[in-house]
Amino acid sequence: MSASTSAQTGRVASNFVPGPILLLGAPGVGKGTQAKELVKLWGIPQISTGDLLRGNVAKGTKLGQAAKEIMGRGELVSDSLVNEMVAARLEEPDTAQGYILDGFPRTLGQANWLDGRLTAQVKSLPAIAVSIQVNYNQLLRRITGRRNCPTCQAIYNIYLNPPTRKEGFCDADGVALVQRADDTEKVVEERLRAYGAMTAPVVEYYRAQERFAEVDGDGAITAIAAGIVAAVERLRKQA
Ligand code: AMP
Repeated sequence: MSASTSAQTGRVASNFVPGPILLLGAPGVGKGTQAKELVKLWGIPQISTGDLLRGNVAKGTKLGQAAKEIMGRGELVSDSLVNEMVAARLEEPDTAQGYILDGFPRTLGQANWLDGRLTAQVKSLPAIAVSIQVNYNQLLRRITGRRNCPTCQAIYNIYLNPPTRKEGFCDADGVALVQRADDTEKVVEERLRAYGAMTAPVVEYYRAQERFAEVDGDGAITAIAAGIVAAVERLRKQA
């Protein structure tokens, strides 16, 4: 999605303030891909807790050292560590018009923590949660086929969205693509189990609230993004 797409649909007002947007859904539904589309459209940051944690692992910070093995097993890092990391990121000035939380909250504890924080901030808009749905077989294909550019963080899929210039290399900068260590079938099983046990209840928690939408994550990237944008605009207009 781009500014021209918004012009085509005529739906996005130039002064639209998205506020906090939560992208929910199982590993592999395309949260990261969709977050990047929304960033392009709205100019607000994507805050991926997975990316922040991987950054900490790469730098060997104390947080990274604590998270590395847990992530390698496909389990969830503790709420206290993740909440603290998110709190620090939300303090940054680029979040003033809103942000897209990708991969957070993943437990009811994290959802309650975020709600408490947003309620305490008089100026903050309430969060809008969008859950992306994809069937199990698609999920497996998406996760095991996923490849990332370590330089620009572009996301490809060897089955569904391969690079067009040279197989295995990023279209944008020509760097060799890599597979995440936890995108293997064995670890994926545990990640999906953790999702069902800990994160599926978070989706139900938001579903029970007014500011929740579900979108079908099967289809063209831009079509799915348009569905998310329409849902967010509709929910933001509600008093
Ligand atoms: P992701 O890139 O969102 O698939 O996250 C990769 C891994 O980082 C997960 O499997 C977890 O181990 C960890 N992680 C990311 N976000 C969270 C979170 N909100 N709470 C706990 N662990 C997380």
